[in-house]
Amino acid sequence: MKNPYILPKTIKPIKYNIELTPNFNDLNFSGKEIIELNIIKNTNEIILNSRDLEITSAKINDIKVKKIIYDKEHQQVKLLFNELKKGILSLELEFKGKVSQDMRGLYKSIYINDNKEKIMLTTQFEPNDARKCFPCFDEPNLKAKFNLTLKIPKELDAVSNMPVKRKFENNNLKTIIFDETPVMSTYLLAFVISELEYVEGKTKDNVMVRVLTTPGKKDKAKFPLEVAIKSLEFYINYFKIDYPLPKLDLIAIPDFESGAMENWGLITYREVALLYDEKNSSAGIKQSIVHTINHELAHQWFGNLVTMKWWNDLWLNEGFASWIEYKATDKLFPEFDIWNQYLTDVKISALYLDSLQNSHPIEVNVINPDEINEIFDVISYNKGSSIIMMLENYLGEEVFRNGLKFYLNKFKYGNAETDNLWDSLEEVSKKPVKKMMHSWTRQTGYPIISVSFEKDNLILKQERFSYLNKKSNEIWKIPINIYEEGKINCYLMDKKILKIKIKNNFFLNYDQFGFYRIRYDEKTFNKIISSKLNIKNKIGIINDTYSLSRGCYIPLKDFLNLIKNYKNETDYAIWDEISSGLGKIQLLFKEKHLEKINKFTRELFFEIHKKLGWEEKNNEGHTKILLRAQVLATLGFSEDKNILNKARKMFDEHLKNKINPNLRSVVYNLAAFNDGIKMFNKLKEMYLKENLQEEKIRLLVSLGVFKEKEILREALKFSLSNKVKNQDTPYLLSVIGSNEYADDLAWNFFKDNWKEYYKRFHDGHTMPNLIKSVTMRFSSSERLNEIKEFFNKNKAENAKRAIEQSLEMIKINNNLVEFNKDLGI
Ligand SMILES: [Zn+2]
Repeated sequence: MKNPYILPKTIKPIKYNIELTPNFNDLNFSGKEIIELNIIKNTNEIILNSRDLEITSAKINDIKVKKIIYDKEHQQVKLLFNELKKGILSLELEFKGKVSQDMRGLYKSIYINDNKEKIMLTTQFEPNDARKCFPCFDEPNLKAKFNLTLKIPKELDAVSNMPVKRKFENNNLKTIIFDETPVMSTYLLAFVISELEYVEGKTKDNVMVRVLTTPGKKDKAKFPLEVAIKSLEFYINYFKIDYPLPKLDLIAIPDFESGAMENWGLITYREVALLYDEKNSSAGIKQSIVHTINHELAHQWFGNLVTMKWWNDLWLNEGFASWIEYKATDKLFPEFDIWNQYLTDVKISALYLDSLQNSHPIEVNVINPDEINEIFDVISYNKGSSIIMMLENYLGEEVFRNGLKFYLNKFKYGNAETDNLWDSLEEVSKKPVKKMMHSWTRQTGYPIISVSFEKDNLILKQERFSYLNKKSNEIWKIPINIYEEGKINCYLMDKKILKIKIKNNFFLNYDQFGFYRIRYDEKTFNKIISSKLNIKNKIGIINDTYSLSRGCYIPLKDFLNLIKNYKNETDYAIWDEISSGLGKIQLLFKEKHLEKINKFTRELFFEIHKKLGWEEKNNEGHTKILLRAQVLATLGFSEDKNILNKARKMFDEHLKNKINPNLRSVVYNLAAFNDGIKMFNKLKEMYLKENLQEEKIRLLVSLGVFKEKEILREALKFSLSNKVKNQDTPYLLSVIGSNEYADDLAWNFFKDNWKEYYKRFHDGHTMPNLIKSVTMRFSSSERLNEIKEFFNKNKAENAKRAIEQSLEMIKINNNLVEFNKDLGI
């Protein structure tokens, strides 16, 4: 069937000349554009994408349009002419539009300067909102060159993908003409109009890099500038392809839906994802800034220089960037021990989601804008990343890198599909990459390999892992690293069963490169946990055991027994994995077992807290700092009275003399957890006074960790007030959604205010996460029916899959609670 959202391919754009004049008072804009077109077949119509725009004039080579027909549903406009002969023609359009308020298209953002609210106009076009700013051929494979001219109030400034070519003033307007871009996709065009300041520097090979902010914030741009320069140098060396543009700008935007956006040459960021405050930023934020920069810079090649043909292959962009950002971070900041954290942050989160029957294959057919928005998810990013990591390990680092270089050079300034990457890697490696990878990108889910013995043979059997324990017959082509007697051998398991001669003392999925789980027989399992394992393999064992219990393959007490073995661990990622498992158990079993779980947690975390204490030591390292905050929070939330008292004391001190930013979240949260309405008012007041977004978010989150429902209801109301930016609204819903004392509060509030949430988030990719965060705690069939009914009546088109996933999660929770009457603690 023909996809009605896709434009006919008989007309191709070559070059856009766009002139935009925004009106800052009325929040609208007028525009003119000339699009040079290649008309491949004689026709009498031109169809372009256009959404919420009014076209006031249209002509081609001076011949006026006969009729303009808007197709609202498909976000298109049809221009009818008498006859258009094939060849190169110029389409001239004039149009009008409105500045959006929803962080998509050309939209309004607000900042404070001189104690006054000021307006910034900025853009977010991915995946399909360039069409809200100017009529265009808004598909990733319809690449063209862009010449942008902006007419803006003369006291403001503007930046775009390319450097400024010319600037002049006329009456009250400043005209800024930018250099022509290389051929690129519409979704990567960007500009920002605002008062701006910046810091700048150059890479070794003289690429100009700037970090821009609204006035008063450029001192927080020094660290990201340093990182961006190093990161750019890393990628130029890694890909052996020069950075394709003359400059790179990174800019902090006060209102931004996601973390960042890779617009070519002008990367936009949420402030908290870019700006680093020497005195007030935490180690966690520092790490996330490094990551976001490394992620977006990778896209300048992988995504921008070579782009997916259609959104089906979004994963190729996002999976790749979500993998290589870790490689770059590891190179730039080895002290982060980032590959250990990778397992919990990326791979395990992908394994969780992909254990659902309602997951989806990496390569997925998407037709309309809602479906496109919905695949900006853990599967495209994290599973994509994980299977690329597995493939790199299978092919070897150098071979993999050579294949990538080959691919980028072959498709630069063009578009590619997933198979083009596999072909390139196959050509360079001479290994059957395509066949192997199809089993990972075209099937939903992933395998669990179970281990048994037959005489001297190890018998490995694969089947799909599912929390609902559903039988199915998929086969994956699995590269398996097996450790045996000091050596690691790699096998390719491409059938249901694999027999291997093995002696003893072996370990499967060594270093956890593979995207699958292992289920050992009891004897081997016991042997393994009493042997010496490295950190990655310990995390693998802990998570596989947890997930097996989550799917009721084994009782939860097996998991709880296992983690007792790790009470002397000192690695952050291991404790992070343990905490996250315990947190979920606490939420689901709190009715009957809260006190027991709390006691168990306090005993488990006793040793590590004794080692770390509260005080930061000189040169103790980045991950110890992260670990300390993690341990204190876990203990505090498990009602450790000493920790709660000390946190309260520190909070009072903080009001006089600010405490270490690495402990602020813990201190605010525990102060809130252990106190009532007075503390709520205090924290809210601090939030309202604060200017630094990072600190604001810490304070905002703390409003959601109180035990009293009345206070939490206030917090939820506050999150929808005009005191909280739209971009930050989801934080409180999410914290309260998993606050064990809140019961059904977040869900009820969400239902009662559905119209408001729908208004704010019916476009874009926030809605799926909102729905999951307010339903994840439920485990009863009554709730399941209630939620199903609610969404039958109230449609969320950009969250259809998320709703199915939430319902499945409730079933899984139900099984878990029924299966584990006794936790054995
Ligand atoms: Zn990305």
